[in-house]
Parts: sequence; structure tokens; C-alpha cells
Amino acid sequence: MALLKRLWRFLPKELRYFIFKIYRKIRSQLQILTHKGDKYQCPFCNYNARDLFVIGRTSKVLKEKHVIGGMRAASGCYKCRSSQRERLIYTYLKEKLDIHNSGNVNNVLHIAPEPNLTRKLLDIEFENYVCGDLFTEGYSYPNHVENMNVTSIPYPDESFDLIMCNHVLEHVPEDQIAMNELRRVLNKEGIAILQVPISKVLGETFEDFSVTNPSERKQVFGQYDHVRIYGQDYVSRLENSGFKVKRVNISSEYPKYGLNVEEDIFVCSRL
Ligand SMILES: [Zn+2]
Repeated sequence: MALLKRLWRFLPKELRYFIFKIYRKIRSQLQILTHKGDKYQCPFCNYNARDLFVIGRTSKVLKEKHVIGGMRAASGCYKCRSSQRERLIYTYLKEKLDIHNSGNVNNVLHIAPEPNLTRKLLDIEFENYVCGDLFTEGYSYPNHVENMNVTSIPYPDESFDLIMCNHVLEHVPEDQIAMNELRRVLNKEGIAILQVPISKVLGETFEDFSVTNPSERKQVFGQYDHVRIYGQDYVSRLENSGFKVKRVNISSEYPKYGLNVEEDIFVCSRL
């Protein structure tokens, strides 16, 4: 084993990458074959599975604070690798907003677009589908993702009918400014889906800006690049930015999609 490890290190980087890619492909095909079943059906790829693969790392603080949407769980699709949260958003868009047939949604803003969700939305061919993220350099984002800071969205007021910004605000120190911006670019009749990992037990959001070291942040907030753990006051933070918030839970209506029954959707519109 030690000899193999030494040999591996001597291989050129490109060759190691190529071998690893092949290994992952074979592993993925084997998983697809061996996890077939009739308990779950992925709304993205229609794969029928007997179970879901485990995503996330164990974290003491996330467990202690019972952070919904942040904890390690059996939640991924073996075929398309979709996460629980992107399946939840897509289910809401498809089943509740009838997004594939709705003529009311023409201009869409998607911050930090989830891979499977963005592919589905591209298929719809909206008049204007804008994707943005602060971190596009060196990431495996496709070309349609613009470099964009959510605290300074480069679009005029009321530009969008639908906005999605999921699991972003917990990374942003000035989250109230980001919320103000999201509200500013939302149409009067539009809706914004703004998901965050949220503690079930914390009433008040926990943040401490003196914690800047990544390993300390991991210990305190559960992830190296998070700056807070949202509590149940998340709704009032959104309201402070001028949003009206409808908190909905659709997970138990669609057990086949393998959604998190504890995960609510925060559907926001202008007050
Ligand atoms: Zn899938």
C-alpha cells in the first residue's frame, strides 16, 4: 500500500487527474446500478432509488443548534448528484408555481445557481435568465454565470419576476445590505426564494464578526466560510428589508423526491 501511495505521488498531475476521473465515473455507474429501487424518484433525472447518498460533514455545532439544511444527511441523488435543497426548490417551482408553463415569469435572477436547477431553468428559455456569483474565477461554473456581488446587484430596480438566492446569505457579512438589494431588483408582483441554513433552536441569529479564521469559523458556525448561524428571527431580518415572508413547507407532500421534512421555503415578496 505504501509503495502504491509513493508511486501515485510520482505520477504527473494530469495523469492522476485523468485516473481519478475514470475511477469516479466507474464508481458512479456502479452506484447507479446498485442503488436502484422504488423508494425515491429524482425530479431532475427521474432515477428511481432505494436510498440517497450521504452529503455533508459531521459538525458538533450544527448538530447542537439543529441547523436545518446544514447537517450531514442521506440526501443526494446517486445519478445526477442533486442535493435535497435543489430538489426542494425545483419541486416548489414545478408543482406550485407551474414554472414550465407560467407566462408570468420572464425575468429570473439566480444567485449561486445550483447545477441541476440551473440546467432545468435554462431549458425553459426565459426572456432573461441571469445567474451570478461572487466566486466565478477558478470554479467549475458554466459561462452563463456572471461575476456578481449580491450586496451590489448590477441591475435596475424591479428587474426580476423571480429571484433565487439559496444558501448564500450565511456567507455575507453585510446580509441586510444583500437583502435590501434583492428586494430592490424584485418586481412588485415578483417573488424571491431566499433559503439559508437555519437553526431550529436558536431564536436569535448568532454572529460574531471577530471570528475570521476559517478553522475557528468552522468550529463556531459549522463551516469555514460561514459568518453566522441564522435563528428563527431570519424572517424578521427579511421583513426589515421590506419583504413580506410566506414560510411554506411542501416536503411531506412529495415523499418520493426525498426532501427534508423540516425544511421550510421562505417565499418573499415586496411589502
Ligand atoms: Zn437525480
